[in-house]
Amino acid sequence: MIKHVFSQLGESFFSFTQVQPLLEQRLVEFNHQLGDKLGLDIKDDEIASILSGNTKLPLSLSMVYAGHQFGGFSPQLGDGRGVLLGEVSTPNGLIDLHLKGAGLTPFSRRGDGRAVLRSTIREYLAAEAMTALGIASSRSLCLFDSKQDVYREKAESGAMLLRTARTHIRFGHFEYFYYRKQPEQLQILIDYCLKHYFPHLSEHDNPIKSMLTEIVQLTAKMIAQWQVIGFQHGVMNTDNMSILGETIDYGPYGFMEEYDPRWIANHSDYEGRYTLENQPSVGLWNLNCLMRAFSNHLSRDELVEVLGHYEPTLMTYYRQCVYQRLGLSLTTTRSKDDSDSNKSVYDVEFVRELYRLLKKEKLDYNIFFRNLSNMENATDYSIILDECIDREPMSLWLDQYISKRQGEKLNWCEIKIEMLKINPKFILRNYLAQQAIKEAEVGNYLPFRRLLHVLQTPYDEHTECEDLSLASPEWAKNLEVSCSS
Ligand code: AMP
Ligand code: MG
Repeated sequence: MIKHVFSQLGESFFSFTQVQPLLEQRLVEFNHQLGDKLGLDIKDDEIASILSGNTKLPLSLSMVYAGHQFGGFSPQLGDGRGVLLGEVSTPNGLIDLHLKGAGLTPFSRRGDGRAVLRSTIREYLAAEAMTALGIASSRSLCLFDSKQDVYREKAESGAMLLRTARTHIRFGHFEYFYYRKQPEQLQILIDYCLKHYFPHLSEHDNPIKSMLTEIVQLTAKMIAQWQVIGFQHGVMNTDNMSILGETIDYGPYGFMEEYDPRWIANHSDYEGRYTLENQPSVGLWNLNCLMRAFSNHLSRDELVEVLGHYEPTLMTYYRQCVYQRLGLSLTTTRSKDDSDSNKSVYDVEFVRELYRLLKKEKLDYNIFFRNLSNMENATDYSIILDECIDREPMSLWLDQYISKRQGEKLNWCEIKIEMLKINPKFILRNYLAQQAIKEAEVGNYLPFRRLLHVLQTPYDEHTECEDLSLASPEWAKNLEVSCSS
Protein backbone atom coordinates (compact mmCIF):
# COMPACT_ATOMS: atom_id res chain seq x y z
CA MET A 1 0.00 0.00 0.00
CA ILE A 2 2.45 2.68 1.17
CA LYS A 3 5.96 2.23 -0.17
CA HIS A 4 9.20 3.68 1.12
CA VAL A 5 11.25 4.15 -1.98
CA PHE A 6 13.12 7.36 -1.19
CA SER A 7 14.02 5.96 2.21
CA GLN A 8 16.21 3.38 0.50
CA LEU A 9 18.69 6.07 -0.46
CA GLY A 10 20.27 6.12 2.96
CA GLU A 11 20.56 8.59 5.75
CA SER A 12 22.71 11.16 4.02
CA PHE A 13 19.53 12.11 2.17
CA PHE A 14 17.16 12.43 5.10
CA SER A 15 16.55 11.73 8.72
CA PHE A 16 14.01 9.18 9.87
CA THR A 17 11.28 11.24 11.53
CA GLN A 18 8.00 10.36 13.17
CA VAL A 19 4.89 12.48 12.89
CA GLN A 20 3.84 14.08 16.16
CA PRO A 21 0.06 14.40 16.00
CA LEU A 22 -1.55 17.55 17.34
CA LEU A 23 -3.64 17.97 20.43
CA GLU A 24 -7.22 16.85 19.75
CA GLN A 25 -6.45 16.54 16.10
CA ARG A 26 -9.49 16.19 13.84
CA LEU A 27 -9.84 15.28 10.19
CA VAL A 28 -11.86 18.14 8.68
CA GLU A 29 -11.45 17.59 4.97
CA PHE A 30 -10.63 14.64 2.77
CA ASN A 31 -10.25 14.79 -1.00
CA HIS A 32 -12.19 11.68 -2.02
CA GLN A 33 -11.56 12.13 -5.71
CA LEU A 34 -7.80 12.19 -5.13
CA GLY A 35 -8.02 9.44 -2.51
CA ASP A 36 -9.73 7.19 -5.08
CA LYS A 37 -6.98 7.83 -7.59
CA LEU A 38 -4.36 6.88 -5.04
CA GLY A 39 -6.29 3.90 -3.71
CA LEU A 40 -6.48 5.48 -0.25
CA ASP A 41 -9.81 5.08 1.46
CA ILE A 42 -10.16 7.21 4.56
CA LYS A 43 -12.93 4.93 5.83
CA ASP A 44 -10.31 2.24 6.18
CA ASP A 45 -9.16 2.61 9.79
CA GLU A 46 -5.60 1.58 9.03
CA ILE A 47 -5.29 4.20 6.29
CA ALA A 48 -6.93 6.87 8.43
CA SER A 49 -4.50 6.15 11.23
CA ILE A 50 -1.47 6.34 8.94
CA LEU A 51 -2.55 9.56 7.24
CA SER A 52 -3.17 11.26 10.56
CA GLY A 53 0.24 10.27 11.88
CA ASN A 54 -1.22 8.12 14.65
CA THR A 55 0.27 4.93 13.26
CA LYS A 56 4.03 5.35 13.38
CA LEU A 57 5.84 4.45 10.21
CA PRO A 58 9.44 3.52 10.97
CA LEU A 59 10.55 4.62 7.51
CA SER A 60 8.85 8.04 7.44
CA LEU A 61 11.42 10.77 7.03
CA SER A 62 12.30 14.41 6.67
CA MET A 63 14.44 15.29 3.67
CA VAL A 64 17.59 17.37 3.73
CA TYR A 65 18.31 19.94 1.03
CA ALA A 66 19.89 23.34 0.54
CA GLY A 67 18.68 26.35 -1.39
CA HIS A 68 19.16 29.85 -2.65
CA GLN A 69 16.74 31.95 -0.64
CA PHE A 70 16.15 35.48 -1.92
CA GLY A 71 19.47 35.29 -3.72
CA GLY A 72 21.60 34.05 -0.81
CA PHE A 73 22.75 30.48 -0.41
CA SER A 74 21.66 28.46 2.64
CA PRO A 75 23.83 25.37 2.68
CA GLN A 76 21.44 23.35 4.80
CA LEU A 77 17.69 23.50 4.86
CA GLY A 78 15.35 20.56 4.84
CA ASP A 79 11.86 19.54 5.86
CA GLY A 80 11.65 21.59 9.00
CA ARG A 81 8.04 20.70 9.60
CA GLY A 82 7.20 18.14 6.99
CA VAL A 83 7.37 14.38 7.00
CA LEU A 84 7.41 12.19 3.93
CA LEU A 85 5.23 9.27 4.99
CA GLY A 86 6.16 7.33 1.87
CA GLU A 87 4.93 6.91 -1.67
CA VAL A 88 2.04 5.21 -3.40
CA SER A 89 2.33 3.58 -6.77
CA THR A 90 -0.02 4.76 -9.49
CA PRO A 91 -0.17 4.10 -13.23
CA ASN A 92 1.57 7.47 -13.62
CA GLY A 93 4.42 6.61 -11.30
CA LEU A 94 5.10 7.19 -7.63
CA ILE A 95 3.18 9.81 -5.69
CA ASP A 96 4.62 11.21 -2.45
CA LEU A 97 2.53 11.48 0.69
CA HIS A 98 3.86 14.40 2.70
CA LEU A 99 2.42 15.63 5.96
CA LYS A 100 3.11 19.31 6.56
CA GLY A 101 3.05 20.69 10.08
CA ALA A 102 3.96 17.32 11.55
CA GLY A 103 6.23 18.54 14.37
CA LEU A 104 9.91 19.12 14.96
CA THR A 105 12.46 17.48 12.70
CA PRO A 106 16.25 17.65 12.73
CA PHE A 107 15.89 20.45 10.15
CA SER A 108 13.53 22.69 12.08
CA ARG A 109 16.25 25.21 12.91
CA ARG A 110 14.53 27.90 14.98
CA GLY A 111 11.04 26.89 13.84
CA ASP A 112 8.47 24.98 15.84
CA GLY A 113 7.80 22.31 13.22
CA ARG A 114 4.18 23.32 13.00
CA ALA A 115 1.79 24.93 10.54
CA VAL A 116 -1.23 27.04 11.38
CA LEU A 117 -4.76 26.46 10.15
CA ARG A 118 -4.65 29.73 8.20
CA SER A 119 -1.69 28.71 6.02
CA THR A 120 -2.89 25.13 5.75
CA ILE A 121 -6.23 26.26 4.34
CA ARG A 122 -4.46 28.60 1.96
CA GLU A 123 -2.26 25.80 0.68
CA TYR A 124 -5.17 23.37 0.44
CA LEU A 125 -7.20 25.78 -1.69
CA ALA A 126 -4.37 26.96 -3.92
CA ALA A 127 -3.11 23.50 -4.79
CA GLU A 128 -6.57 22.35 -5.77
CA ALA A 129 -7.28 25.57 -7.67
CA MET A 130 -4.05 25.28 -9.66
CA THR A 131 -4.74 21.63 -10.48
CA ALA A 132 -8.19 22.53 -11.78
CA LEU A 133 -6.63 25.26 -13.90
CA GLY A 134 -4.44 22.63 -15.54
CA ILE A 135 -1.23 23.82 -13.88
CA ALA A 136 1.01 21.10 -12.50
CA SER A 137 0.86 21.29 -8.72
CA SER A 138 1.05 19.39 -5.50
CA ARG A 139 -2.43 18.36 -4.40
CA SER A 140 -4.28 18.40 -1.12
CA LEU A 141 -5.43 15.06 0.20
CA CYS A 142 -6.56 15.91 3.71
CA LEU A 143 -6.58 18.55 6.36
CA PHE A 144 -6.51 18.18 10.13
CA ASP A 145 -7.29 20.90 12.61
CA SER A 146 -6.58 20.76 16.32
CA LYS A 147 -6.87 22.42 19.70
CA GLN A 148 -3.13 23.01 19.81
CA ASP A 149 -1.95 26.59 19.99
CA VAL A 150 0.76 27.53 17.55
CA TYR A 151 2.33 30.96 17.97
CA ARG A 152 2.94 33.25 15.05
CA GLU A 153 2.19 36.98 15.48
CA LYS A 154 -0.39 35.67 17.94
CA ALA A 155 -1.66 32.30 19.09
CA GLU A 156 -3.35 30.43 16.27
CA SER A 157 -4.64 26.90 15.89
CA GLY A 158 -2.21 24.28 14.69
CA ALA A 159 -3.13 22.17 11.69
CA MET A 160 -1.65 19.64 9.29
CA LEU A 161 -2.02 19.18 5.58
CA LEU A 162 -1.40 15.94 3.83
CA ARG A 163 -0.28 16.87 0.38
CA THR A 164 0.72 14.75 -2.54
CA ALA A 165 3.22 15.50 -5.27
CA ARG A 166 5.05 13.53 -7.93
CA THR A 167 8.20 14.33 -6.04
CA HIS A 168 9.51 16.50 -3.25
CA ILE A 169 12.99 16.58 -4.74
CA ARG A 170 13.90 20.20 -5.27
CA PHE A 171 16.68 22.05 -7.06
CA GLY A 172 18.14 22.49 -3.59
CA HIS A 173 18.65 18.75 -3.17
CA PHE A 174 21.35 18.82 -5.83
CA GLU A 175 22.84 22.02 -4.50
CA TYR A 176 23.15 20.46 -1.07
CA PHE A 177 25.49 17.68 -2.19
CA TYR A 178 27.33 19.78 -4.72
CA TYR A 179 28.34 22.46 -2.22
CA ARG A 180 29.16 19.90 0.45
CA LYS A 181 31.50 18.32 -2.08
CA GLN A 182 29.84 14.92 -1.85
CA PRO A 183 30.04 13.70 -5.46
CA GLU A 184 29.05 10.16 -4.57
CA GLN A 185 25.83 11.24 -2.93
CA LEU A 186 25.13 13.63 -5.78
CA GLN A 187 25.55 10.74 -8.20
CA ILE A 188 23.22 8.52 -6.19
CA LEU A 189 20.59 11.26 -6.25
CA ILE A 190 20.98 11.74 -10.00
CA ASP A 191 20.65 8.00 -10.62
CA TYR A 192 17.59 7.91 -8.40
CA CYS A 193 15.92 10.68 -10.39
CA LEU A 194 16.81 9.10 -13.71
CA LYS A 195 15.44 5.77 -12.59
CA HIS A 196 12.20 6.97 -11.05
CA TYR A 197 11.30 10.15 -12.89
CA PHE A 198 13.10 10.05 -16.22
CA PRO A 199 13.27 6.34 -17.14
CA HIS A 200 12.41 7.20 -20.74
CA LEU A 201 15.83 8.88 -21.06
CA SER A 202 17.89 5.85 -20.14
CA GLU A 203 18.75 5.07 -23.77
CA HIS A 204 19.85 8.62 -24.53
CA ASP A 205 23.52 9.31 -25.31
CA ASN A 206 23.74 11.61 -22.35
CA PRO A 207 20.84 10.90 -19.97
CA ILE A 208 21.94 13.58 -17.48
CA LYS A 209 21.91 16.26 -20.13
CA SER A 210 18.53 15.06 -21.36
CA MET A 211 17.19 15.05 -17.82
CA LEU A 212 18.34 18.62 -17.23
CA THR A 213 16.83 19.67 -20.54
CA GLU A 214 13.51 18.21 -19.43
CA ILE A 215 13.74 19.93 -16.07
CA VAL A 216 14.36 23.22 -17.86
CA GLN A 217 11.39 22.64 -20.13
CA LEU A 218 9.04 21.53 -17.36
CA THR A 219 9.99 24.58 -15.32
CA ALA A 220 9.53 26.90 -18.30
CA LYS A 221 6.11 25.45 -18.99
CA MET A 222 5.02 25.81 -15.36
CA ILE A 223 6.15 29.42 -15.17
CA ALA A 224 4.49 30.25 -18.50
CA GLN A 225 1.26 28.93 -17.03
CA TRP A 226 1.71 30.97 -13.87
CA GLN A 227 2.13 34.09 -15.97
CA VAL A 228 -0.90 33.40 -18.10
CA ILE A 229 -3.26 32.86 -15.19
CA GLY A 230 -1.64 35.58 -13.04
CA PHE A 231 -0.31 33.35 -10.28
CA GLN A 232 2.49 34.69 -8.14
CA HIS A 233 4.32 32.05 -6.12
CA GLY A 234 5.83 34.51 -3.69
CA VAL A 235 8.84 32.47 -2.54
CA MET A 236 10.59 31.21 -5.64
CA ASN A 237 13.67 30.04 -3.79
CA THR A 238 15.53 27.06 -5.22
CA ASP A 239 14.41 24.97 -2.27
CA ASN A 240 10.83 25.53 -3.40
CA MET A 241 11.37 24.47 -7.02
CA SER A 242 10.37 20.91 -7.87
CA ILE A 243 12.51 19.09 -10.42
CA LEU A 244 9.31 17.95 -12.14
CA GLY A 245 7.93 21.42 -12.75
CA GLU A 246 5.13 21.09 -10.22
CA THR A 247 4.07 24.08 -8.18
CA ILE A 248 4.92 23.26 -4.56
CA ASP A 249 5.29 24.95 -1.18
CA TYR A 250 2.45 27.43 -1.26
CA GLY A 251 3.14 30.23 1.18
CA PRO A 252 2.46 33.92 0.60
CA TYR A 253 1.28 33.34 -2.97
CA GLY A 254 -1.39 35.35 -4.73
CA PHE A 255 -3.58 35.33 -7.79
CA MET A 256 -3.45 38.69 -9.49
CA GLU A 257 -6.78 40.47 -9.40
CA GLU A 258 -6.41 43.99 -10.79
CA TYR A 259 -3.92 43.72 -13.60
CA ASP A 260 -0.54 44.77 -12.23
CA PRO A 261 2.48 42.54 -12.82
CA ARG A 262 4.49 44.55 -10.28
CA TRP A 263 2.18 43.82 -7.42
CA ILE A 264 3.89 41.96 -4.56
CA ALA A 265 1.97 39.11 -2.96
CA ASN A 266 4.60 38.37 -0.33
CA HIS A 267 4.82 41.29 2.11
CA SER A 268 8.21 40.09 3.29
CA ASP A 269 9.56 40.42 -0.24
CA TYR A 270 10.56 44.05 0.28
CA GLU A 271 12.42 44.41 -2.98
CA GLY A 272 9.79 42.74 -5.09
CA ARG A 273 12.19 40.02 -6.16
CA TYR A 274 9.34 37.61 -6.83
CA THR A 275 6.70 39.80 -8.46
CA LEU A 276 4.73 38.32 -11.31
CA GLU A 277 6.75 40.20 -13.86
CA ASN A 278 10.02 38.87 -12.42
CA GLN A 279 9.02 35.22 -12.30
CA PRO A 280 10.28 34.22 -15.75
CA SER A 281 13.75 35.62 -15.10
CA VAL A 282 13.84 34.21 -11.58
CA GLY A 283 12.99 30.81 -13.06
CA LEU A 284 16.08 31.10 -15.24
CA TRP A 285 18.17 32.30 -12.32
CA ASN A 286 17.05 29.28 -10.30
CA LEU A 287 17.80 26.90 -13.15
CA ASN A 288 21.21 28.48 -13.40
CA CYS A 289 21.78 27.53 -9.75
CA LEU A 290 20.71 23.99 -10.56
CA MET A 291 23.09 23.82 -13.53
CA ARG A 292 25.98 24.80 -11.31
CA ALA A 293 25.38 21.67 -9.24
CA PHE A 294 25.98 19.68 -12.41
CA SER A 295 29.19 21.41 -13.37
CA ASN A 296 31.19 18.27 -12.68
CA HIS A 297 28.94 16.28 -14.97
CA LEU A 298 28.54 18.51 -17.99
CA SER A 299 30.78 21.04 -19.64
CA ARG A 300 30.04 24.72 -19.42
CA ASP A 301 28.93 24.75 -23.05
CA GLU A 302 26.59 21.86 -22.47
CA LEU A 303 25.04 23.56 -19.46
CA VAL A 304 24.60 26.76 -21.43
CA GLU A 305 23.00 24.76 -24.22
CA VAL A 306 20.60 23.13 -21.76
CA LEU A 307 19.64 26.50 -20.30
CA GLY A 308 19.12 27.75 -23.83
CA HIS A 309 15.90 25.74 -23.96
CA TYR A 310 14.31 27.85 -21.26
CA GLU A 311 13.33 31.03 -23.00
CA PRO A 312 12.02 29.54 -26.24
CA THR A 313 10.00 26.92 -24.33
CA LEU A 314 8.54 29.52 -22.02
CA MET A 315 7.75 31.97 -24.80
CA THR A 316 6.22 29.37 -27.09
CA TYR A 317 4.05 28.02 -24.35
CA TYR A 318 3.15 31.46 -23.06
CA ARG A 319 2.08 32.67 -26.47
CA GLN A 320 0.03 29.58 -27.12
CA CYS A 321 -1.77 29.97 -23.81
CA VAL A 322 -2.40 33.69 -24.20
CA TYR A 323 -3.85 33.18 -27.63
CA GLN A 324 -5.92 30.28 -26.37
CA ARG A 325 -7.37 32.50 -23.66
CA LEU A 326 -8.30 34.98 -26.37
CA GLY A 327 -9.91 32.24 -28.45
CA LEU A 328 -7.39 32.77 -31.21
CA SER A 329 -5.36 30.06 -32.82
CA LEU A 330 -1.67 30.21 -33.26
CA THR A 331 -1.58 27.76 -36.11
CA THR A 332 1.52 28.46 -38.05
CA THR A 333 0.84 29.43 -41.60
CA ARG A 334 3.24 28.90 -44.40
CA SER A 335 4.64 32.20 -45.46
CA LYS A 336 4.29 33.00 -49.13
CA ASP A 337 7.82 34.23 -49.66
CA ASP A 338 9.61 31.31 -48.08
CA SER A 339 7.95 27.97 -48.57
CA ASP A 340 10.18 26.23 -46.03
CA SER A 341 9.57 28.48 -43.08
CA ASN A 342 6.59 28.71 -40.85
CA LYS A 343 5.28 32.06 -39.74
CA SER A 344 3.79 32.60 -36.36
CA VAL A 345 0.67 34.73 -36.29
CA TYR A 346 1.23 35.90 -32.70
CA ASP A 347 0.74 39.64 -32.64
CA VAL A 348 3.02 41.00 -29.93
CA GLU A 349 1.74 44.58 -30.16
CA PHE A 350 -1.88 43.51 -29.98
CA VAL A 351 -1.29 41.57 -26.75
CA ARG A 352 0.89 44.32 -25.29
CA GLU A 353 -1.80 46.87 -25.98
CA LEU A 354 -4.32 44.70 -24.14
CA TYR A 355 -2.06 44.54 -21.09
CA ARG A 356 -1.49 48.27 -21.23
CA LEU A 357 -5.22 48.83 -21.18
CA LEU A 358 -5.89 46.32 -18.43
CA LYS A 359 -3.30 48.09 -16.32
CA LYS A 360 -4.46 51.59 -17.09
CA GLU A 361 -8.08 50.75 -16.40
CA LYS A 362 -7.19 48.60 -13.37
CA LEU A 363 -9.35 45.82 -14.72
CA ASP A 364 -9.66 42.50 -13.00
CA TYR A 365 -7.44 40.24 -15.05
CA ASN A 366 -9.38 36.98 -14.97
CA ILE A 367 -12.82 38.59 -15.05
CA PHE A 368 -11.79 40.38 -18.22
CA PHE A 369 -11.04 37.07 -19.94
CA ARG A 370 -14.25 35.54 -18.67
CA ASN A 371 -16.24 38.50 -19.98
CA LEU A 372 -14.50 38.20 -23.31
CA SER A 373 -15.41 34.52 -23.38
CA ASN A 374 -19.02 35.30 -22.61
CA MET A 375 -19.53 37.67 -25.54
CA GLU A 376 -22.49 36.34 -27.49
CA ASN A 377 -21.48 37.99 -30.73
CA ALA A 378 -19.23 40.63 -32.23
CA THR A 379 -21.25 43.54 -30.84
CA ASP A 380 -21.80 42.19 -27.35
CA TYR A 381 -19.04 43.99 -25.50
CA SER A 382 -20.79 46.62 -23.43
CA ILE A 383 -19.96 44.74 -20.22
CA ILE A 384 -16.27 45.20 -21.03
CA LEU A 385 -16.48 48.82 -22.09
CA ASP A 386 -18.61 49.73 -19.09
CA GLU A 387 -15.70 48.81 -16.84
CA CYS A 388 -13.44 51.33 -18.59
CA ILE A 389 -13.11 55.00 -17.76
CA ASP A 390 -11.55 55.75 -21.12
CA ARG A 391 -13.68 53.66 -23.46
CA GLU A 392 -12.11 54.66 -26.75
CA PRO A 393 -8.78 52.75 -26.61
CA MET A 394 -10.49 49.60 -25.38
CA SER A 395 -13.06 49.92 -28.10
CA LEU A 396 -10.28 50.16 -30.69
CA TRP A 397 -8.61 47.10 -29.21
CA LEU A 398 -11.89 45.21 -29.32
CA ASP A 399 -12.32 46.10 -32.99
CA GLN A 400 -8.96 44.55 -33.68
CA TYR A 401 -9.81 41.55 -31.53
CA ILE A 402 -13.13 40.97 -33.23
CA SER A 403 -11.64 41.11 -36.66
CA LYS A 404 -8.96 38.60 -35.64
CA ARG A 405 -11.59 36.36 -34.15
CA GLN A 406 -13.74 36.55 -37.24
CA GLY A 407 -10.76 35.39 -39.26
CA GLU A 408 -10.68 32.12 -37.32
CA LYS A 409 -11.83 28.82 -38.81
CA LEU A 410 -14.26 28.17 -35.96
CA ASN A 411 -17.36 30.29 -35.72
CA TRP A 412 -18.12 32.70 -32.88
CA CYS A 413 -20.17 30.24 -30.89
CA GLU A 414 -17.69 27.40 -31.22
CA ILE A 415 -14.90 29.67 -30.02
CA LYS A 416 -17.05 30.85 -27.15
CA ILE A 417 -17.51 27.26 -25.96
CA GLU A 418 -13.75 26.64 -26.08
CA MET A 419 -12.96 29.89 -24.28
CA LEU A 420 -15.35 29.13 -21.47
CA LYS A 421 -13.46 25.89 -20.89
CA ILE A 422 -10.18 27.64 -20.22
CA ASN A 423 -11.06 31.04 -18.80
CA PRO A 424 -12.15 30.42 -15.22
CA LYS A 425 -15.14 32.06 -13.66
CA PHE A 426 -13.66 31.46 -10.22
CA ILE A 427 -10.19 32.41 -9.08
CA LEU A 428 -8.81 32.21 -5.56
CA ARG A 429 -9.11 35.75 -4.25
CA ASN A 430 -7.24 36.62 -1.13
CA TYR A 431 -10.25 37.97 0.67
CA LEU A 432 -12.30 34.85 -0.07
CA ALA A 433 -9.55 32.69 1.38
CA GLN A 434 -9.47 35.05 4.33
CA GLN A 435 -13.21 34.72 4.93
CA ALA A 436 -13.01 30.94 4.70
CA ILE A 437 -10.13 30.96 7.19
CA LYS A 438 -11.94 33.22 9.64
CA GLU A 439 -14.92 30.88 9.73
CA ALA A 440 -12.77 27.74 9.88
CA GLU A 441 -10.96 29.19 12.87
CA VAL A 442 -14.25 29.12 14.77
CA GLY A 443 -15.07 25.64 13.53
CA ASN A 444 -17.26 26.48 10.54
CA TYR A 445 -15.83 24.84 7.45
CA LEU A 446 -18.79 25.52 5.18
CA PRO A 447 -17.33 28.64 3.51
CA PHE A 448 -14.04 26.76 2.96
CA ARG A 449 -15.88 23.84 1.34
CA ARG A 450 -18.03 26.11 -0.77
CA LEU A 451 -14.97 27.94 -2.04
CA LEU A 452 -13.06 24.72 -2.60
CA HIS A 453 -15.94 23.35 -4.64
CA VAL A 454 -15.96 26.24 -7.13
CA LEU A 455 -12.17 26.29 -7.33
CA GLN A 456 -12.11 22.60 -8.19
CA THR A 457 -14.55 23.24 -11.04
CA PRO A 458 -13.73 26.86 -11.92
CA TYR A 459 -15.14 26.83 -15.45
CA ASP A 460 -18.66 25.80 -14.42
CA GLU A 461 -21.29 28.46 -13.87
CA HIS A 462 -22.28 27.55 -10.29
CA THR A 463 -25.08 30.13 -10.37
CA GLU A 464 -25.68 29.56 -6.66
CA CYS A 465 -22.14 30.83 -5.95
CA GLU A 466 -22.17 34.01 -8.02
CA ASP A 467 -20.77 35.96 -5.06
CA LEU A 468 -17.53 33.96 -5.25
CA SER A 469 -16.94 35.00 -8.85
CA LEU A 470 -17.06 38.76 -8.35
CA ALA A 471 -14.15 41.17 -8.17
CA SER A 472 -12.94 41.87 -4.64
CA PRO A 473 -14.84 44.67 -2.93
CA GLU A 474 -12.91 47.92 -2.32
CA TRP A 475 -12.30 47.15 1.35
CA ALA A 476 -10.63 43.86 0.45
CA LYS A 477 -8.29 45.12 -2.23
CA ASN A 478 -5.37 45.94 -0.03
CA LEU A 479 -5.94 43.27 2.53
CA GLU A 480 -2.63 42.30 4.06
CA VAL A 481 -2.46 38.64 4.78
CA SER A 482 0.15 37.51 7.22
CA CYS A 483 2.97 35.70 5.50
CA SER A 484 3.99 33.66 8.52
CA SER A 485 2.88 30.14 8.08
P1 AMP B 1 9.60 27.92 2.96
O1 AMP B 1 10.28 29.06 2.30
O2 AMP B 1 8.28 28.23 3.61
O3 AMP B 1 9.44 26.76 2.03
O4 AMP B 1 10.49 27.45 4.19
C1 AMP B 1 11.90 27.47 4.20
C2 AMP B 1 12.45 26.46 5.17
O5 AMP B 1 12.03 26.77 6.50
C3 AMP B 1 12.04 25.04 4.89
O6 AMP B 1 13.16 24.24 5.07
C4 AMP B 1 10.96 24.78 5.91
O7 AMP B 1 10.88 23.42 6.26
C5 AMP B 1 11.42 25.64 7.09
N1 AMP B 1 10.30 26.05 7.93
C6 AMP B 1 9.31 26.92 7.63
N2 AMP B 1 8.46 27.06 8.66
C7 AMP B 1 8.91 26.28 9.66
C8 AMP B 1 8.47 25.98 10.99
N3 AMP B 1 7.39 26.54 11.51
N4 AMP B 1 9.19 25.11 11.71
C9 AMP B 1 10.30 24.54 11.21
N5 AMP B 1 10.77 24.77 9.98
C10 AMP B 1 10.10 25.63 9.21
MG1 MG C 1 9.79 25.33 1.22
